[in-house]
Order: sequence, then C-alpha cells, then structure tokens
Amino acid sequence: MLNDADAIHVTDVKKYYGATKAVDGISFAVRQGEIFGMLGPNGAGKSTTIEMIEGLRVPDAGAITVLGLQQPRQANAIKERIGIQLQTTALYPLLTVTEILDLFHTFFRGRQTIPTEDLIHMVNLEEKRATRSKNLSGGQQQRLSVALALVNDPDLIFLDEPTTGMDPQARRQLWDVVRDLRGRGKTILMTTHYMEEAQELCDRIAIVDHGKILELDTPAALIHKFFQDVAIEFQDGSTDAATYQRLPGVTSATSSEGRVTLHSTDVPQTMGALLAHVGTSGANFRDLNVRTATLEDVFLKLTGRALRD
Ligand code: ADP
Repeated sequence: MLNDADAIHVTDVKKYYGATKAVDGISFAVRQGEIFGMLGPNGAGKSTTIEMIEGLRVPDAGAITVLGLQQPRQANAIKERIGIQLQTTALYPLLTVTEILDLFHTFFRGRQTIPTEDLIHMVNLEEKRATRSKNLSGGQQQRLSVALALVNDPDLIFLDEPTTGMDPQARRQLWDVVRDLRGRGKTILMTTHYMEEAQELCDRIAIVDHGKILELDTPAALIHKFFQDVAIEFQDGSTDAATYQRLPGVTSATSSEGRVTLHSTDVPQTMGALLAHVGTSGANFRDLNVRTATLEDVFLKLTGRALRD
C-alpha cells in the first residue's frame, strides 16, 4: 500500500548481472522526514538499490515510487526534487568552495535554489569558503559534495557511503550535517557499512546481504529483538566455545580468534558459573568485558560474519 507519508516505495525490485543477483527481490518504504540507512558489507547490493531509486539504473523487475512519482517513467520530475551526493573526485580542484557552489547554481537557473552562503553554513564550511577544493580535507570535501546535492533544495537526499575513509571526528561532523537536514524536514536515504554510523544516525535500518533485506527496523528494536541480553566477552586461549554454551543463562556462545562472546539472559548466574569453570579448568582467562548488545552483534548473528571496513 502506498502511504502518503512515504518518500520512497520499493516493491519486489530485482537487478541481476549475469549470474550475480545484485538485488534479489527487495521491498521497503522510506518515510518522509526520516534518516533511513541501508547497512551491509561490500557487494551486498546497497549501491545498486540506491541507484535504481535515483533513476541511474533500471530494475529488471519490480516497482519504485519516489515522492509519489514512478521511477523510471517520471524520472525527470523525480530528478527535480532529489539531491544525489556525487563522489568528490568529480569536484573542480582549482575552484574554491564558493565558486563551485555558484557554478552549480547556474545549472538550476530559474528554479528554486538554496543560496550559496546558506549552503556553506549548512555544511559548516564557513572558514573554507575561499579555499580551493583540492586543498580541502577528505571530510571537508565530503561536506562540500553534500552541499552540492542540496543546491536545488531537494526534499529527498541520497548519500552513498558518505563517510567512507573519514576519521572519527570528520565522520561525526558529517553526522551533524545529516541530522540538521532531517531537522529541516528533509528525508535522507543513505548506505553505510559502518555499524556505528547506522546505530547512531539512522532512524530505521535495513540490514542487507546478498541482494536481500534480512531485517528492517529501528536500531533499538533490532538490538532488542535479537539481544534482550548482555554480551560477556573474554579471551581464553582456545577456539572452542561449546563448553560455555552449557553455562546457566547463556543463549549463544561463539568464538573468533581466541575471543569468546557469550550472550546471557542472567548475568549473575552466568558470571558465577563462568568464574567457577575458569577456576577448575585452568584456562588462560583474560580481558573480560561485559556490555550490552550492539548492531554489530545483530549483524553477526544474522549473517554469520562481521562487517569489515
Ligand atoms: P554494495 O553497494 O553493497 O557494495 P553493489 O550494489 O555495488 O554492492 O554490488 C552488488 C553486487 O552486484 C556485487 O556482487 C557487484 O559486483 C555486482 N555488480 C554491481 N554493479 C555491477 C555491474 N554494473 N556489472 C556487473 N556486476 C555488478
């Protein structure tokens, strides 16, 4: 059902490249005014999905509606109301921030645009307005590319892995920019393979792997659904987690590179039994850490593998 509050509606969309099922029957809706994240490892199908919604690739099957308009039939009308963040390599290296933004305004002559000075303020580049783009840091270039996606005052903004390669501080600055856009009533569809980014920034997340959506919900709901419990981690020098599976309260026990992760619904019971076990087994037990579950845990449980940068 098409809902007026939805900015994007994707129904059973597929895109195959020969034997590669890049997108293999994906359905979801993005609500107006939310930050919606597609989270998955490289090759999961995120870019292919986002580019079909943008109108840059044509689906083999399925239906896509963007702001009430049909993709690809009404692609031109859609283009007027969306903003796509392009990769920064496309920026003119010798032009300054102000000059590039002014240049982009000429592409939208006669149409509603956001003034260059306002854009500079929105992406926090006031001190860099006279700097040539080649002399900007990676994070500043990314913020400039977000500003370029905003020139035509779009209702819906697409960010494809916007913080890849950034240091943590630059990443947080971009998150602030994205949150500010949401505060202005914009809808944001973004992809990421950073778990922390999805958890901190997105209102809802689709976890994608092998061209399919495995789960879709708020970060808190995903964590709650999969882990109403606490993670207990430690090194024990072995790779066999099976022994720990039998401890009271333990719902799952996995080990990776000598590090064991237990999920427990009864931490005092599990800890008591764990310490007793360690005392009698003589295991080389160290680096104990007890924490609440994260999206990383959810992803690991769903796909059996960790997300890697
Ligand atoms: P992600 O953005 O999650 O990293 P992509 O959507 O880029 O994933 O890719 C999904 C899968 O489709 C990958 O296996 C990729 O190699 C393949 N793929 C993407 N685009 C093409 C293309 N133009 N031709 C052939 N294979 C492609």
